[in-house]
Amino acid sequence: MGKGNIGVTSDNIFPVIKKFLYSDHEIFLRELVSNAVDATQKLKTLAAVGEYKGELGDLTVRVAIDKKKGTLTISDRGIGMTADEIDKYINQIAFSGAEEFLEKYKNDAQAIIGHFGLGFYSSFMVSKQVEIFTQSHKEDTVAQHWACDGSPEYNLEDTIKADRGTDIVLHIDDENKDFLEESKIQELLTKYCKFLPIEIAFGKKKEWKDGKNVETDQDNIINNTNPAWTRKPTDLTEEDYSNFYRELNPMSEDPLFHIHLNVDYPFNLTGILYFPKIKNNIDMQRNKIQLYCNQVYVTDHVENIVPEYLTLLHGVIDSPDIPLNVSRSYLQSDGNVKKISSHITKKVADRLNEIFKADRTAFEEKWDNLKLFIQYGMLSDEKFYERGEKFALLKNVDGKYFTFEEYKTLVGENQKDKNGDLIYLYASNADEQYSYIQHAKDKGYDVLIMDGQLDVHVVSQLEQKFEKTRFVRVDSDVIDKIIQKNDDNKVTLTNDQRDALVTVFESQIPTLDKTNFIVTFEQLSATANPVFVTQNEFMRRMKEMSALQGG
Ligand code: ADP
Ligand code: MG
Repeated sequence: MGKGNIGVTSDNIFPVIKKFLYSDHEIFLRELVSNAVDATQKLKTLAAVGEYKGELGDLTVRVAIDKKKGTLTISDRGIGMTADEIDKYINQIAFSGAEEFLEKYKNDAQAIIGHFGLGFYSSFMVSKQVEIFTQSHKEDTVAQHWACDGSPEYNLEDTIKADRGTDIVLHIDDENKDFLEESKIQELLTKYCKFLPIEIAFGKKKEWKDGKNVETDQDNIINNTNPAWTRKPTDLTEEDYSNFYRELNPMSEDPLFHIHLNVDYPFNLTGILYFPKIKNNIDMQRNKIQLYCNQVYVTDHVENIVPEYLTLLHGVIDSPDIPLNVSRSYLQSDGNVKKISSHITKKVADRLNEIFKADRTAFEEKWDNLKLFIQYGMLSDEKFYERGEKFALLKNVDGKYFTFEEYKTLVGENQKDKNGDLIYLYASNADEQYSYIQHAKDKGYDVLIMDGQLDVHVVSQLEQKFEKTRFVRVDSDVIDKIIQKNDDNKVTLTNDQRDALVTVFESQIPTLDKTNFIVTFEQLSATANPVFVTQNEFMRRMKEMSALQGG
């Protein structure tokens, strides 16, 4: 056996790895545990097809810390490696221009790992020495001990190992001592390995007994090997879905509903997305979608993979077809990523439409919590707008809901100006605009409530989309230009009386704003307000826009 040189072109790749991958040190654990899981699954496959005839036994992957020795060990009972295999898979990191490549992608640490098989070598980011003890599952093979201190030289020799499988022993270096802390490893395993398909044990379960924490003889299992998204929708109950949601977001309120994704052509993708209740602030809720690759956690920043408004959803997507090893700009132009994104968009819209059609009342009840998401989608994605037109709702000040079509029919007869344009009246603050709303209602008009975070933008969008339609705030001057079908609200004052009163009211308007306000009179009656001071709609919007841009 003896010594050899690791097959890289660069003299010493390890300083390069350490330097460029600095920010992502912790992913070494994910790489090693997923190698252990891979080796175990390969063995299970071999057993299933009859190529491995031995006992499988306990297949748990075990992670252990030895503080005294300063080691972290990852052990599996998978296929193991022969001397030849170590040579082929570990010694030959056969690619050219390693340094050049690393230089180019230095901002994309994850890029390099995986793509070029540096998964195992990421262990050198935190270790001064790495050892492999491995016994292949193949008959008549000798166990091997490989050791390397981070230089291109390694040592390989026969050894004795009772058990089939592989132990990877990391001698943690001085700068990375925190990886010898139980809490740190527990945290990282929970982050990266929570849903791996083979059980991962880290020490023993602890129990509170007689006022202190004592170790039990039960394994502390990190993961759920059979997460909901990998199961068939028909095998899952509503309760399973909400339990899984709580597993992902222990502190969150229950979601409104879920979508189970399951695609195998033209790409592979599974997952479950949940609609959270989105009340007022859309920015509070972002980045609660986790991306997995074959149950290995990759990231919770999926903004390059799904359109921005979909990042408001919570849940999991799992796809081996999302390239993890490339830069952001490449991701956005990648064909698969585009297809995945439009598939999810379609699924989400279909599901909303389905719920809308199946149970309109339930949909209306959820609307206030769904509204921001749907509006955001319709504002930012033309395709989603086209789908959303069918189920997006408008709400009036009396709490009634209408589809776009329904609302058009409702106001079509009664709210037109002299050019025949439809006028949609809306309130942006029902309390402040209370008397204006009453006034409009007295005239027989309907008033929408548009007081949400995105409603200003929705109003501009709908004005562009709807033909011959204007949205007019209920306290603006335009309301008086709407043609009345039965115009019986005649003012019964003489012109002189009017002029005198106008002067009185105008004297109360702040000087600077004089031109923006208009004073009008109504018939004096017990219910209606006799005098209205309205604001010029155009001037008000100009101000609102500049306030928005400014802030
Ligand atoms: P990748 O996992 O992408 O192939 P790695 O660098 O992580 O790249 O691992 C290289 C190879 O080393 C694996 O493909 C596998 O053949 C072998 N290997 C690594 N860890 C183990 C293990 N625990 N058991 C058996 N083989 C392993
Ligand atoms: Mg690997």
